Amino acid sequence: MTLLSRALQFAILNPYSDFYRRKYGSDYKTYIEKDLAGIPLLTREEIDATPFFDRIFIPKEMIHFVRATSGSSGRGVIAFPLAEEPELMRYRKSLGFSGEEALAGRFFGPYFKKEDTYSILIYSPSNAVHETYVVEEGGHVAVSGDYRDQEKTFARAEAAGVDSMYSFPSPLAGVGHYVAGTPLAARMKRIVLMGERVTEPLRRELVEAFPHATIAAVYATVDAHGTVGYTCPSYLTVSPNYMHVFPTYQLELVDPETGHVVPQVEGAEGEVVITALTPMAFSLVRYRTGDYAVVRKHGLCSCGSTEPMFEILGRVGLDRIKLLPYGGLSSAVLEEAVLKLPYKVADFTAVWNERISPPGLSTVLYTDHAPYIHSDMLARAIQVSSTRTYADLVELGVVSPLVCTAEPVEVLRTLPTDKRKRLQVSR
Ligand SMILES: [Zn+2]
Repeated sequence: MTLLSRALQFAILNPYSDFYRRKYGSDYKTYIEKDLAGIPLLTREEIDATPFFDRIFIPKEMIHFVRATSGSSGRGVIAFPLAEEPELMRYRKSLGFSGEEALAGRFFGPYFKKEDTYSILIYSPSNAVHETYVVEEGGHVAVSGDYRDQEKTFARAEAAGVDSMYSFPSPLAGVGHYVAGTPLAARMKRIVLMGERVTEPLRRELVEAFPHATIAAVYATVDAHGTVGYTCPSYLTVSPNYMHVFPTYQLELVDPETGHVVPQVEGAEGEVVITALTPMAFSLVRYRTGDYAVVRKHGLCSCGSTEPMFEILGRVGLDRIKLLPYGGLSSAVLEEAVLKLPYKVADFTAVWNERISPPGLSTVLYTDHAPYIHSDMLARAIQVSSTRTYADLVELGVVSPLVCTAEPVEVLRTLPTDKRKRLQVSR
C-alpha cells in the first residue's frame, strides 16, 4: 500500500469523523485507491461549513493543545479556536509559536536538527500581540520577539545568546540598524523565514546584517499542520523562495479556473493543492491553498531531492493577473521590475484597475528618489512574458498606460504590511 493510499484510508475511513465520507458520497470507499486527480478538490469554505469537533480525526480526549496563529491572510487556521467554539478555547496553548514548540524544533525543516544546540528568536506577528517569553529546556533557549519594539527585542535576544531566528520577513526590514556590530550579528547561524515570500532586497539586507547566517525559508499555509515546503539546500544562496515539498505532503498544481492538474514541468504555473501523507488531526486531501506557484526545476535536484523545485508567487486572484494571450502580471514580476530601476525602492504597492478601459496598472513606489520616478522606465521593465513588457501591451492597446507615483520611504511606517508588495485588484 502506498503512502498516499494509506493517508487516504486514514482520512476517509476515520472512525471519529465522516467529513470525507459525506463529501465523497456512497462510493467513498473507491476513493482510497484512486489517483489524486480523480478525487474532488477541497476548499476552505467546505471546511468552514463543518464545526471543528465534527471534522477532526481524533477523539476530544487526545487534544492536548491547539496551535493558533492569526495567519498572514487574516483567516485564522483551520484549527483556530473561534469565539463560536468556546470549548476549543481551553485547548489553546498559545498564540503564534510557543516557546515549547520552538524548542521541539518542529517547524524548521532541514535547517534545525534536534541534536543541534540553539537559542532562537521567534518573531511572528501574533507572538508580539499575545505573549512575551524566554523559555529554556535541554540547553535550548527560545525568546519571543515583538516587531513593535525592535530595540527591546534585540536586547532580549542578545542577553539570551540567540544564535538562530525564526521569523516573518517583514519585521526584519531595517534590522541592520539594531544589530550592526553587535555580538548577536556575528553569532547568528541560521535564519528561517516563513509566512511571506522573501524579497531579494530583504535577503541582501540579512546577508549584510548577519554575515555568517544561513538564510532559508519554509512554506507554510495557515491551514496546514506544520510546514509544507523548505528552501532547497543547494539553492540557499540563489533564493530562499526555491523550495521542495516535505515528505509529509504531496503537492499538486492545478489551473485555478478549471481545477485541472498542471504537469509539474519547468515553467509550469498553478494553484498549490496539498494532500497530507501522514495522519493529522484534520487531514487535508486535495486542499486548495489559494497560493500560486511556478515550477523552477524538475527531475533530480543537486540536493538529492526528486521533488520538483517550486516558488510561491502569491495568492490566486490577488497577486496574479492573467493577460491572455499575452502573459501575466504578478507581485513577483513587479518586484523584479522594481529591482531593475536605477534607484533604491524600499517597497511598493500596486493596483490593477479593471474599472477603466482597457484595464491598467497603477503603482506607488516608496523611495527617497521621487524626482527620478519615470513611469515609462518601470513599464519597460515589467516583463509580462519572455518577449513582451507592459510598455508593449500599452502600445498594442491591451492595457492603459502605467500610472506610477512615488512616496517617501517615511510613509512606509504607517502602511499595514499586508498591503505592501501586493498586486490588488480593483473591480
Ligand atoms: Zn534541491
